[in-house]
Amino acid sequence: MEFNHTESDVMEEIKQLQATIPGLCYHGTHQAVSTGSLTPSCEICTRMAYMSFQLGFRCNAKCPFCFLSTYNADAPDEDEKYNRQALLEEFHRRKDELEGIALTGGEPLLYLPELEACVSEMQKAKPGLYFWVYTNGILADDEHLGVLRDLGIKEVRFNLAATNYSEKTLENVERARGMFEQVVVEVPSYPKQKEKLIGCLGELNRIGIDQLNLQELLVTDANVHRLEGEGYQSGLLFLKKFFLYGSRKMTYEVMRYCIDKKYSFTVNDCSAARFGRMP
Ligand code: SF4
Repeated sequence: MEFNHTESDVMEEIKQLQATIPGLCYHGTHQAVSTGSLTPSCEICTRMAYMSFQLGFRCNAKCPFCFLSTYNADAPDEDEKYNRQALLEEFHRRKDELEGIALTGGEPLLYLPELEACVSEMQKAKPGLYFWVYTNGILADDEHLGVLRDLGIKEVRFNLAATNYSEKTLENVERARGMFEQVVVEVPSYPKQKEKLIGCLGELNRIGIDQLNLQELLVTDANVHRLEGEGYQSGLLFLKKFFLYGSRKMTYEVMRYCIDKKYSFTVNDCSAARFGRMP
């Protein structure tokens, strides 16, 4: 991948695109720029009052854009329990400042017993904590989603891009709509998948999702060889990150499209220069 663009050029381009959309809402430290109100999880995130809880790194998808080193296996790696233990210890240390927990992976639905145990422990230590789950949606059937709902989890975020916007995952999004207060679709803005995303927006509007979260595509050692396009560097020294050039531009093109179509859900530009994660 070539890195010929500068961060200042990209930012100038984004500012110009933002100027063409009246009424945008700028949140917190501007890590989120949206067309309307945000879900509770995003609100908590803009206040930096959350913790990301990675249940494990096993995943049943293999996304070309995945910036994590995930693995595909029938059973979870035993060593992951030490990582969960460390996260629980971190939670207990920080719980006074936390309003919410983002349950991530790998694929969290492959870790339901572990998820139940960790969520129960955290709920006991801090009642009222807000939990949200990221999923690729492959296993989001009645049984798996029912476990999340019965645990008191209020929000599910679907990465439809993991299955290239498949019909089956869309059906699972609709199933979740009937079970959870907040249903979000959160995908990386990957220009290669733009048409697929645009193609299902009408259906997402019919289903009635609350928010479409578009993440700037983070480039790491794990995905740099699989991604198509050029990159750019953001920040310096230990704050240095790399992103796919054109990813954030796509976010504003999709935002514009949703506004023109008068879709009811909020579209959010999740600017990973200040922040970034993907299930
Ligand atoms: S992006 Fe998410 S769904 Fe895709 S491989 Fe990575 S962890 Fe799995």
